[in-house]
Amino acid sequence: MLVAGCGHADEALSVGDYSCDSVPRPENVRLRLSTFSDDWFQVYESADGVYSIVEPYQLQETISHLIIGEDRALLFDTGVGLLPIKTVVERITSLPMIVLNSHTHYDHVGGNWEFSTVLAVDSDYTRANMDGFDNKRIAEDFLPEAFCKGAPEGSDPASFSTKPWKQSRYVQDGEVLDLGGRKLEVLRVPGHTPDALALLDVENRLLFTGDSWYDASLWLFAPETSLQDYEASISRLATLDGEVDFLLGAHNSARVDAGRLQAVVEAFRRIRAGDYAAETDDYNRLAIEIGDVRILTAQPALDGKQADISKGGSGLDKWPN
Ligand SMILES: [Zn+2]
Repeated sequence: MLVAGCGHADEALSVGDYSCDSVPRPENVRLRLSTFSDDWFQVYESADGVYSIVEPYQLQETISHLIIGEDRALLFDTGVGLLPIKTVVERITSLPMIVLNSHTHYDHVGGNWEFSTVLAVDSDYTRANMDGFDNKRIAEDFLPEAFCKGAPEGSDPASFSTKPWKQSRYVQDGEVLDLGGRKLEVLRVPGHTPDALALLDVENRLLFTGDSWYDASLWLFAPETSLQDYEASISRLATLDGEVDFLLGAHNSARVDAGRLQAVVEAFRRIRAGDYAAETDDYNRLAIEIGDVRILTAQPALDGKQADISKGGSGLDKWPN
């Protein structure tokens, strides 16, 4: 069954469906809304030393997480880029800043250009995305209907492109980033994109899942998505789910209780066994619902196909019909 809704997450997403009715998300209402918030960025205190910077008024409802140590801070994603995110970050901390992206889809790298230290995954896919995404590749997400209370003042959505950026150095799977009094382990979890990452903060029992998991329909339809890689990655993350208290994804809800990932692993087992029903939406995507798990994918992805990933991908590119 398809449910019309809004946000990155909901099924049958069409830009015209988006409204402000579902924001703020209930899970976010339970968190403390920080005074660092403004009219565009809603900043939630989602854990000790963690500020989740939500952009709730554009349909992606993207979340960038700022994680603060004693010596430096790490910004895990930089938002859609319509307004500068650095302004918000500088209100919160004056520590030296490291930027790392959960993946390089357009809606997570928009503010990368604002920062001098940007870590990245060593892949052709990532390097292609560093050139930025021009307006025609992302225009659909910046139509007037993509904003639930209008575009933010000072932005120009009709001509908006994401700016190019450069990496300072590459990160490896298993690498530990020491922020001083706080350590984050980098986990490469390809699938949603070839360069998808998660961050594990073992001591504080937090798992930052990026777009590999968030509390809504999982978008796994882009040509650069590999369902086979995704299944391996979500299985890996599921083994850590019991070691953390919270999952912090990159859309909609900033923080939810852990214990959700094994259901996704199980859903994939059923998909592989052909034990599922799928519905096609207006965008030629397939919506699959298994228990609480909702996946939005595409037939080529289910057939094991993946586009030429060396050319990058905005997250909005489609499989040709
Ligand atoms: Zn995303």
